[in-house]
Amino acid sequence: MEFAKVYLKPGKEQSLLRFHPWIFSGAIDALSRNIDEGEVVEVYTSRKKFLGIGYSQVGSIAVRMLAFSKVVPDLTFWTHKIQQALAIRQNAGLTDNPHTNAWRLVYAEGDNMPGLIIDIYNETAVLQIHTVGIYLMKDVICEALENVLGNRIKAIYNKSEGTIPFKSQIEPHNGFLKGKTEDHTAQENGLRFWVDFEKGQKTGFFIDQRENRALLEKYSKNKSVLNLFCYTGGFSLYAMRGEASLVHSVDSSERAIEITKQNISMNFPDDTRHQAFAEDAFKFLDKSKNKYDLMVLDPPAFAKHLNVVPNALQGYRKLNARAIENIKPGGIIFTFSCSQVVSRDAFRKTVFSAAAKTGRNVRILHQLEQPADHPINIYHPESEYLKGLVLFVE
Ligand code: SAH
Repeated sequence: MEFAKVYLKPGKEQSLLRFHPWIFSGAIDALSRNIDEGEVVEVYTSRKKFLGIGYSQVGSIAVRMLAFSKVVPDLTFWTHKIQQALAIRQNAGLTDNPHTNAWRLVYAEGDNMPGLIIDIYNETAVLQIHTVGIYLMKDVICEALENVLGNRIKAIYNKSEGTIPFKSQIEPHNGFLKGKTEDHTAQENGLRFWVDFEKGQKTGFFIDQRENRALLEKYSKNKSVLNLFCYTGGFSLYAMRGEASLVHSVDSSERAIEITKQNISMNFPDDTRHQAFAEDAFKFLDKSKNKYDLMVLDPPAFAKHLNVVPNALQGYRKLNARAIENIKPGGIIFTFSCSQVVSRDAFRKTVFSAAAKTGRNVRILHQLEQPADHPINIYHPESEYLKGLVLFVE
């Protein structure tokens, strides 16, 4: 089959020559023929020099690159790509770890596979697809996944209903693509979690905080801990194991609180140190003056687009100012932003201005980030999104 050809306007190849994987619609000069949404295309400079292959999408990012060489995205191609991604996780000690079986195998552009997320929960692989192009290739991707992981996985679940652009022509359905499983438990650093990959947020769990949670455990001994935006209670479980004196988990979602309670009782049955509250985090903070020694602030992305960054920064400032104001003297705050459009520097400045507003003395003890199974493609700085600070408040 002949792939359609995309010709760029003069000079618009510069970012591709530096392996940035996105082509904006304004950079395209001409097409060799009409292209369907999601179709695989070959990309050329204005002088007809071959640049690579990608797939199309309706929207401002018109093409996402799959390779900067002349290849066909077939089973061999995908098997090789997933193999490369697996090697990174093997090196990071995640794939054969007796204490951890929840890890990200494929992180989209971070693994040179734009539009594709694959998370592993014990023997289940969960695919979350963000583009029509990848959705159309999901069967061959599944086969490649089986080639690479073999018996290691028993089921592949597709959870893409909420992530394919809503204007597209296809109607994605959630469901098993291979096998079936009732098993919803996964382990992280020896703690057990119930993962709702069918109905939960993202793929059911926030794998990206694994190492930051482990750090929190070390700070928890004899502390009263407040975990705001707790979702499935990840940080709370580590605080419990770290011998916190009490742990309060807060999330506005009733469902999240149910799962948190379930996770706590699975790991610490009948332990009365933990309590969970389905409440607004900001309101809860307002009644938390001098009650807690350790706080976690891990809100959802306040900004999803550049044009709302100022509002998002205001949100982070308000949240952090209230926490810094209310924490006990000598307290510790783990504060995060997972907004990709808020830079590390902007986040730190925002926390600085929050601290300055309170007049309390604050030091940064750690600067946190996303783990190795969420690698940052150096040519695609947009793949960096998670940043955090551990603060000591005098
Ligand atoms: N810390 C979690 C992930 C947090 S995800 C972990 O380690 O897994 C963000 C969570 O914030 C979601 O569960 C969402 O329900 C919750 N949330 C959003 N707005 C909120 C608000 N105003 N108050 C409390 N929780 C909120």
